[in-house]
Amino acid sequence: RFEGIAMAPPDPILGVSEAFRADTDVKKLNLGVGAYRTEELQPYVLDVVKKAENLMLERGENKEYLPIEGLAAFNKVTAELLFGADNPVIKQQKVATIQGLSGTGSLRLAAAFIERYFPGAQVLISSPTWGNHKNIFNDARVPWSEYRYYDPKTVGLDFEGMISDIKAAPEGSFVLLHGCAHNPTGIDPTPEQWEKISDVIQEKNHIPFFDVAYQGFASGSLDADASSVRLFAARGMELLIAQSYSKNLGLYAERIGAINVVCSTADAAARCEDIDCTLSRDMEEMVVKSVRLVSDVWNITHYLLLISWCPLVNLCCNWDSVKGVLVKSQLKRIARPMYSNPPVHGARIVANVVGDPALFNEWKAEMEMMAGRIKNVRQKLFDSLSAKDKSGKDWSFILKQIGMFSFTGLNKTQSESMTNKWHVYLTKDGRISLAGLSLAKCEYLADAIIDSYHN
Ligand code: PMP
Repeated sequence: RFEGIAMAPPDPILGVSEAFRADTDVKKLNLGVGAYRTEELQPYVLDVVKKAENLMLERGENKEYLPIEGLAAFNKVTAELLFGADNPVIKQQKVATIQGLSGTGSLRLAAAFIERYFPGAQVLISSPTWGNHKNIFNDARVPWSEYRYYDPKTVGLDFEGMISDIKAAPEGSFVLLHGCAHNPTGIDPTPEQWEKISDVIQEKNHIPFFDVAYQGFASGSLDADASSVRLFAARGMELLIAQSYSKNLGLYAERIGAINVVCSTADAAARCEDIDCTLSRDMEEMVVKSVRLVSDVWNITHYLLLISWCPLVNLCCNWDSVKGVLVKSQLKRIARPMYSNPPVHGARIVANVVGDPALFNEWKAEMEMMAGRIKNVRQKLFDSLSAKDKSGKDWSFILKQIGMFSFTGLNKTQSESMTNKWHVYLTKDGRISLAGLSLAKCEYLADAIIDSYHN
């Protein structure tokens, strides 16, 4: 009976917005949830989104169900946006993509996939990480442990700690990495550090699992923000990548994202170069087609059996694309009883914007504008803190962090003082969303931070 159900605790991030709404003070400021606001602190719908929606109306698009894997045009452009259309993993059809319910739903799907096909494998997550990661893996019954990431002493990356924890994890673990603009710290590895991270992951036979929720939002460049993922892909590694369009296209409520799986066989590339593949191309196509036909009743064990029993076919085929078909079929099988098929509206918006060169360029300009506003606010907050704080504390870490957030270093009690005394709402780990801050409010926020920090 329902009498026995206890009250659930409020969500640490979305609960902040609930508390904000209940506050009647005019000075109140919501820096809890990561959503972009204008300088007037109003929500923002991108012009390119409105244009894409107008196009959709003009075309009179219908509302029929999508296939389980989502909108084909969306899946194509989203993988291309992530890897670059010319990337060999795209050209060689190594990527299996299915549309997901934004970043969260895509991560959840991947978690269910891990639970089903890699029983007992653990996911390593950064300490700290976005609060929902732990919920997602807990609910999917995937064991997780943490690797060191944030060093409070330097307010920077604990790179040695990170590397040694990844090294110490059992072989074949999944390593969850934030593709760019790490949430909540705003601290990303340098390109050299990414190289070293991929070295250890490769040595240990781990599987990298990227969460890309801020492509284009960290630096303002879509390509630069995908460079971590592309580095791993270029090394021929198998990868999982969850994508979200909540932030970079402002499609928070449309729930649009994807899960991509890069399938790779260590010697696949070499094999294709070595053999004259005229005959094998036909054969490959035939195998891919037949696998696609029966894939719904197959599973990965059957696929492995087939590989081991068919050395000739194995030699001549692009097995990565076969693998992709199988993986995709299993992701669909997981999605079907969860939500049947994904929503179409956001998928069409993305397909229209990314797939149309003019809209795509406009989007890039709008994203640069948004990223630029956040950078200006970051600078102003730093200037205000430095000017007002007479203690000599070095606030330059704020400028080094990137993306939507700043990790202020405020502890739980100090964060509570920010809210109770100053009506500034933030998560209890001291994270503030600069996307919800205006230039006009920087001085007030600096007063609140200094007061809470020193008292
Ligand atoms: N991952 C990270 C690191 C995030 O910060 C977010 C959004 N806050 C998400 C995933 C997912 O967001 P959504 O489900 O809205 O795409």
